Amino acid sequence: MEERGSPDGDPARNLEQGPEGSETPIQVVLRVRPMSTVELRRGEQTALHCSGTRTLQVSPPGGGPDVAFRFGAVLDGARTQEDVFRACGVKRLGELALRGFSCTVFTFGQTGSGKTYTLTGPPPQGEGVPVPPSLAGIMQRTFTWLLDRVQHLDSPVTLRASYLEIYNEQVWDLLSLGSPRPLPVRWTKARGFYVEQLRVVEFGSLEALMELLQMGLSRRRSSSHTLNQASSRSHALLTLHISRPTSQQVPPVDLGEPPVGGKLCFVDLAGSEKVAATGSQGQLMLEANSINRSLLALGHCISLLLDPQRKQNHIPFRDSKLTKLLADSLGGRGVTLMVACVSPSAQCLPETLSTLRYASRAQRITTRPQGPKSPGVKPPQQVENELLRLQEENRHLRFQLDQMHTTAPGAHGARMAWAQRNLYGMLQEFMLENERLRKEMRQLRSSRDLARAEQRVLAQQVHDLERRLLSACPLPQQGSTPVCPCRMVPAASCHALPPLCYCHHLCPLCRVPLAHWTCPRRECHMPQQVLEPEAPGHISQSVWPPPWAPPPSPGSAKPPRERSQSDWTQTRVLAEMLMGEEVVPSAPPLSAGPSNMPYGLRGGSGIPNLTPRLETLTQQINNSLHLSQRQSQPSEDTQSPGQGLSSC
Ligand code: ADP
Ligand code: MG
Repeated sequence: MEERGSPDGDPARNLEQGPEGSETPIQVVLRVRPMSTVELRRGEQTALHCSGTRTLQVSPPGGGPDVAFRFGAVLDGARTQEDVFRACGVKRLGELALRGFSCTVFTFGQTGSGKTYTLTGPPPQGEGVPVPPSLAGIMQRTFTWLLDRVQHLDSPVTLRASYLEIYNEQVWDLLSLGSPRPLPVRWTKARGFYVEQLRVVEFGSLEALMELLQMGLSRRRSSSHTLNQASSRSHALLTLHISRPTSQQVPPVDLGEPPVGGKLCFVDLAGSEKVAATGSQGQLMLEANSINRSLLALGHCISLLLDPQRKQNHIPFRDSKLTKLLADSLGGRGVTLMVACVSPSAQCLPETLSTLRYASRAQRITTRPQGPKSPGVKPPQQVENELLRLQEENRHLRFQLDQMHTTAPGAHGARMAWAQRNLYGMLQEFMLENERLRKEMRQLRSSRDLARAEQRVLAQQVHDLERRLLSACPLPQQGSTPVCPCRMVPAASCHALPPLCYCHHLCPLCRVPLAHWTCPRRECHMPQQVLEPEAPGHISQSVWPPPWAPPPSPGSAKPPRERSQSDWTQTRVLAEMLMGEEVVPSAPPLSAGPSNMPYGLRGGSGIPNLTPRLETLTQQINNSLHLSQRQSQPSEDTQSPGQGLSSC
């Protein structure tokens, strides 16, 4: 009878095929330790026979058919530590760890079967006495190989180590600096199970790592019983954290946490034992029960992991600290090697058969190894799709740009092209234009202020001339001389231009309200506003002649003439002169003036040219004085108004 083993039986060759993503079975190597001197002295017989390099024959005591177990490799007691190291393919595991995989090597078997010896060699012969190199176990040999390997890598490698033990179902830090205390095991989705506050020590040399190993080994609890003088009373886990910085790798956020990267973990399990066979009592018995419970939980998980329907099953990794910390190695994304250790003695055959059965089943467990994935790293297909989408968008944008160039010919097209090339240049152009407009505005305001000053001077001159004209008029006399001209016309009703209303102004000589036609502002009055509904034959007041004008002959009334623009301008100037403020005419508005005239000189706030008006007024005054001199008797002591004016 032969139990099923590995499909091809060579763990090293299986690992060479590359584990990424595919179902990878746990590799199992069987090591049979040699008969100890004690066993030989007792005359114990062996029940195990190696058949070839991968098959173990078990001969039950008392006869019966042999049972064959097939593993990746079967190593008998004659094989050296170096043979075991090579046969296990640990170098390949180390390479995978350097590539970021999580790899685990753990030993499994009965107490005293050689698990610790396989991993770390024989127990130290004294404090500080190193293990002879020829007897060094898998761990020391792996350390040596790894430190040598990283020396020849292109990129730098950061190596850190942690070392813990599970003793009586409590986790203890074997590298802690302070007083030891149990540490909690936590779980997160990102990290899985992990030990909180576990010390992780960075190292850079083989010597430093060996010191850490010795520190842990010396702290690890062991006791003596009938089957093993230095029996491990705890499960020990030494983990090497390998981090290789790459362009896509994200540094760890918390320096206390192990970096993202590969992992190589060595697990030295405490052996199962029959308390009756080992003679353990008291504390030893408690330790044995704790060890057996955790190994039982491990066996249970292995059984469930072998179930074809295991995806529907719950794997009770939480049943023990050991299964929690081995969960990833057994059923997750790790690459795992089990070294099953057995004693050759027929006395241990029941435990040996149990170990062989577990090991045979374990090698049918598969994992899906995965390397570390940095956040934000997309799978190749996703990257390719995004690349195609961006290329399409690029083509579309280029097409639109070409369309804009072709539909914008000439200067406009050139300007658009220029603006597209350089928006900053367009902004500069606007700024220069704004500055130019501001400068022009300042010049216009200066011109307007000058014109206003000139207007005031001229208005004052007009005012003085008019005042002197009125002063030159003869005083009203009784009888032969006519009364003041203002009294010749009855007061008219008030009109609609209050500031310019003639009713509100007094004659400077007789101080009576001036009639409309004698009002110096009469020309500001709008014809339609001045007049009430006219009676037949009524003569418009707006066309009455001024007092110095010759009286019209009967029947020669002229039709009302249209006011010229200059009339309105003069009226407005006179109004301003008298009121001392600028007057905005209500109607008709001043013309806008020529389009090239500065804004300040256009209609709305126009400034009239008073020079012609002054000349006209001077001429009128002279005429009036001349007429007055002719109507009155000339006297020698009377000064001519014309002389007075000319002397002004
Ligand atoms: P376990 O860890 O499984 O309880 P150990 O590794 O402590 O067992 O081994 C028990 C004893 O057997 C130790 O004294 C050890 O030196 C010895 N031993 C184990 N394997 C070998 C081997 N391959 N060659 C020589 N001695 C061995
Ligand atoms: Mg041990």
